[in-house]
Amino acid sequence: MHCNPRYNILFEPITIGPVVAPNRFYQTPHATGMGRNNPNSSAALRAIKAEGGWGVVCTEYCSIHPSSDETPYAYLTLWDDDDMRQLAQTTDAIHAHGSLAGIELWHGGFHVNNRGTRETPIAPTAGNTEYVHPGQVRAMTHRDIQDMRAWQRAAAIRARDAGFDIVYVYAGHEYLPFQFLSRRFNQRDDEYGGSLENRTRLLREMIEDTRDAVGQDCAVAVRLAIDELHGNSGITSENEGRDVVEMLAELPDLWDIALGGSLGTDSCSSRFSAEGYQEQYANVVKPLTSKPVVSVGRFTSPDAMVSQIKRGVQDFIGAARPSIADPFLPKKIAEGREDEIRECIGCNICRSSNNEGVPLRCTQNPTMGEEWRRGWHPENIPAKHTDASVLIVGGGPAGLEAALALGKRGYQVDLAEQSEQLGGRLLRESTLPGLAHWIRVRDYRVNLLQQMPNVNVYTQSEMTSDDVREFEADYKVMATGSRWRRDGVGATARTPLQSVSDDVLTPDDIFSGADVTGDVLIYDDDHYFMAGALAEKFLRAGHRVTYVTPESIISSWTVMTNEQEFIQTRLMELGIEAHYLQRIDSIEEGLLNTACAYTAKPSQFRFDTLILATSRESDQSIVDSLGDSAISLIGDCRVPSSIADAVYSGHKFAREVGVPRELRVPRREQAIIFSDLTGAVA
Ligand code: SF4
Repeated sequence: MHCNPRYNILFEPITIGPVVAPNRFYQTPHATGMGRNNPNSSAALRAIKAEGGWGVVCTEYCSIHPSSDETPYAYLTLWDDDDMRQLAQTTDAIHAHGSLAGIELWHGGFHVNNRGTRETPIAPTAGNTEYVHPGQVRAMTHRDIQDMRAWQRAAAIRARDAGFDIVYVYAGHEYLPFQFLSRRFNQRDDEYGGSLENRTRLLREMIEDTRDAVGQDCAVAVRLAIDELHGNSGITSENEGRDVVEMLAELPDLWDIALGGSLGTDSCSSRFSAEGYQEQYANVVKPLTSKPVVSVGRFTSPDAMVSQIKRGVQDFIGAARPSIADPFLPKKIAEGREDEIRECIGCNICRSSNNEGVPLRCTQNPTMGEEWRRGWHPENIPAKHTDASVLIVGGGPAGLEAALALGKRGYQVDLAEQSEQLGGRLLRESTLPGLAHWIRVRDYRVNLLQQMPNVNVYTQSEMTSDDVREFEADYKVMATGSRWRRDGVGATARTPLQSVSDDVLTPDDIFSGADVTGDVLIYDDDHYFMAGALAEKFLRAGHRVTYVTPESIISSWTVMTNEQEFIQTRLMELGIEAHYLQRIDSIEEGLLNTACAYTAKPSQFRFDTLILATSRESDQSIVDSLGDSAISLIGDCRVPSSIADAVYSGHKFAREVGVPRELRVPRREQAIIFSDLTGAVA
């Protein structure tokens, strides 16, 4: 198949200073949770992006000096020549597919605590570090500023020698050069503070230093947060952000435009932003410079991409999450296979990986982060080993992914789903406010399954244990999902309530159309999206909603997906009444009794409708009655978790069919063992 001519413009080569990108697909820097500790995994991940057709593939943040240390989180380093040699593996892997390699040189300023290196944290102005910690940050002296410039310069030279084509000066996401730009963080009264020209001085010097260091071997890119979203107290795209670009317009070879102070606003979830949401901020830049501009916006539609280029918003299609969900997005467009794009759903599980300090994972793409460790490729999968057949019971995320991956391997698959539609939990959860894109997890898989002659999908096909027993298949897999508990057991309550009336509702009851009347009380001991999303649903429907939780904030785990502050703000604006640090004790007629998480002091909350969102139980009813240990369980049926974990579970099962157990063990990145530790401790 061939590229739709409408999309040809996306495949034009673009000059970036002394280098040329083969097309307009630009994977902007994004974290992987791998960093310097997992160099093989990191290189393999970037190589997959290049193989998939991204013309530019950038690294994650790469520290230029030990005074920028975000331990225990994973980040790259270019502190010495060993780091340089390690990163050369990544550039080689990217170049092998004809793409350009970019590196995001980084100093965190007050965003780092230097817990690993124990170096003194530095920033334009003294104060607290970003993350609560007893240690504060010291105001940079002129000597520190000179050192900072030298570190950037040295790191740029190492980046060039490692083979990178594009070297970044990173003035976004509230990191050090940006801290100099913003009046919110820079209260200096020397030539680096005060006027915007003074506050821009360090950024200008760093661009010049970097250019001087790399010469004509590499392009110099600037990543700039064009708007802090703090109104006129900070940098805005209408005023100072625009002015910074105007002042430095022709200095870098490329402008990479970001948004917001924190990563949460730049990589905003689909619950709180639409595709292309950064356009109104990014599009002030193009008219100010002749240099190419790139920005992100969770682009998955090739028509939206073409529109960005034709309307002059940007020269590239910047992407982090869409390249994670589908590393082969450019190739699929090039080959006229747009309908096979595994579209990002904007759930931000990828962000949670970095925030939890673990290697990258993705809801849509179960192979992400497993390229080196398990040797998984997002598009290729080993052919079947035998002529075995597989029965899958349940057409939710795990069942659909297992069917798709097994189908690609060539196995004969029968998938039975009891309801009229495929999708399982996705059908229900995607009806919640802001979560409509989640249905893409189903749509991508169903579209491909429909084209597979070796996969039979049956809806409205409930399977009893007898049906399963009698079905002729070599492998039988249960993907029957889970049910929300009605007994109060959750993250903090480990034992069931003594009695719970049937009038108490669970999220499953809500999705089944249960009658919700009067004042709604939601008790959240789950802490991910469900209780907060239900609260929004009923607030919007005009109910008075009270939210009670043992935690100290609403939907506390969504801190990891960078959504919590958006959720809390929205629900407060909608008028939610929230009560924190309350543990469920008992339920009476119209009353929820709780105890303070610290003092056990009792409280009571009145309700007309009570919804418990606490935890789920696997639906293993068929397996229990079969008593057959040869049956495999995947997804929430195996253990309730995120959609990402369900998809991963289905994919892993499919990969491992016919593979001996001893060959399923993933590789590990091992530290180097030095044979001689003599003198290590004086
Ligand atoms: Fe997109 Fe979710 Fe995958 Fe992140 S985890 S890339 S937001 S689908």
